[in-house]
Amino acid sequence: MSRSAVWHPFTQHATEPVPPRIARTEGAYLETADGKRILDAISSWWVITHGHRHPRIVEAISEATATLDQVIFAGLSHEPAERLASALVEMAPAGLDWVFYSDSGSTSVEVALKMALGFHRNIGAPRSRIVVTEHSYHGDTIGTMSVGARGVFNAAYEPLLFEVDTIPFPSTGREQEMLDRFEALSRSGEAAALIVEPLVLGAGGMLMYPPSVLTELKRIAEASGTLLIADEVMTGWGRTGTMFACEQAGISPDILCTSKGLTGGSVPLAATLATDAVFRAHYSEDRAKTFFHSSSYTANPIACAAALANVGIWREEPVIERIAALSRMQADKISRFRDDPRFENVRSTGTIAALDLRVGRAGYLAEVGPRLRAFFLERGLLLRPLGNVIYVLPPYCVTSDELDRLYDAVDEAADIVRAVR
Ligand SMILES: *Cc1c(COP(=O)(O)O)cnc(C)c1O
Repeated sequence: MSRSAVWHPFTQHATEPVPPRIARTEGAYLETADGKRILDAISSWWVITHGHRHPRIVEAISEATATLDQVIFAGLSHEPAERLASALVEMAPAGLDWVFYSDSGSTSVEVALKMALGFHRNIGAPRSRIVVTEHSYHGDTIGTMSVGARGVFNAAYEPLLFEVDTIPFPSTGREQEMLDRFEALSRSGEAAALIVEPLVLGAGGMLMYPPSVLTELKRIAEASGTLLIADEVMTGWGRTGTMFACEQAGISPDILCTSKGLTGGSVPLAATLATDAVFRAHYSEDRAKTFFHSSSYTANPIACAAALANVGIWREEPVIERIAALSRMQADKISRFRDDPRFENVRSTGTIAALDLRVGRAGYLAEVGPRLRAFFLERGLLLRPLGNVIYVLPPYCVTSDELDRLYDAVDEAADIVRAVR
């Protein structure tokens, strides 16, 4: 094999092994060139929903390429984008009437932040502060890093990150503290928006909180004119048990970001949905109030066609029932670790299950992740623990037997890690 020129994401090339090359994907599996099958238990970084290469999505992509490729989306439109926008408005929480396309989760969040700032400025009452949750993650661009948790991942870029107001994560017993802090910040009249990951904070360690907290946050935001941005990039498309996580709190945010599962995970696409009020603030004879944002591949027709096929799957296949069954399996199977002294914080929300490996010395933490990853990969399992947090976030086509195999490996892994401590 020739030397690779590829610089991989979140990869320390000095210490990590050469990554296996994947030649084929299907259902819940990745397959290497030499035929080794790997169970994709993290849905290829949370994007794959139904399974790899769902036939309907593959076919839609192929069909779309017969007539369209990229078309500039300023001044022109096309059928796949129009039809998808109508479908998204129909499927999203009520009141989100406008769809702005982009091409990644990070970009959809950047768009949301710009919409929020633009909204307040255009209505003649500028606000400039963004309120964020402790441990949150919203992407890796400068803007999204600014509204995310600070740490080793962004220390080098800290000088460029803008200041935000952070409210505590609502861990059990601290819910009121979070709400009080948000209420105080809202009262200042400077908070343009609160950005939240509804129900599950992903990259922050699969931290979970109850829908009632989200309901309260919405109430406080509404009362103070602070916009609520729901970053559903990870939680959308059924991951938490409902189409969007916001549904469980019975709320509609002012702005909603969706990306990862939008095309079933097949090709990149993102959308930022907004209320009519947010749109209206930018609707003016005054051209200076235009929403100034675009990326080259905005509303790529092939990606829109893939997303439409995904919408078709949601409408015509029993996806919600499949997710409900998977959610029950996840809750049931992870419960075997509930009284296991090697683990703590055993939890699940919808199709996502997670638990924390008790590690003796925190300084050792950095070593645990890569070691576990290698251990799982040797067994044909793709798991990518976040520090000492092991989580299982599988495509919806995963079977009960496959989950058993996974959790057996988790069980075994805990002893291996303990042995090298
Ligand atoms: C993954 C993720 C993002 C960033 O999406 P990219 O497509 O990787 O840019 C933003 N927000 C949340 C909650 C995510 O999980």
